[in-house]
Amino acid sequence: MEHLIIACSDGRLAEPLKRLRATLGIDGADHLLVPGGPLLFVRPGMERRVAMGCITMQIDTGGVRKVVLVSHQDCRAYERALGGLGFDQREILARDLRRVRALVENAFPALDVHCYLIPWRENDGGAAFGDAEPVD
Ligand SMILES: [Zn+2]
Repeated sequence: MEHLIIACSDGRLAEPLKRLRATLGIDGADHLLVPGGPLLFVRPGMERRVAMGCITMQIDTGGVRKVVLVSHQDCRAYERALGGLGFDQREILARDLRRVRALVENAFPALDVHCYLIPWRENDGGAAFGDAEPVD
């Protein structure tokens, strides 16, 4: 597969990720789904090495050329890792996405890396994930 989507394993993301693939015109993709998604790459030591090893494996065996990093609001893995996300969670998630993009681009210069953030929206109609938004 040409695309590798790295996202949180949270089952509630199935629909938002499906919509993102449709928006990007991605027919099929490889996935790396772990709690927190890109979070794993900003964790120290072993966790990061395992995450980078997964990408290496997926490039070598699957022909990946483009990586799509996806983080989401209301992420329990993030809340647990950071002891709560507070009001600036968008900033924290966007900052980590940029850090992981730089990390992956440095390690794999041939890859094209893009970042997206799935927002959690609460309004009169209830609460749900919105459409993924690009992070520059
Ligand atoms: Zn999550």
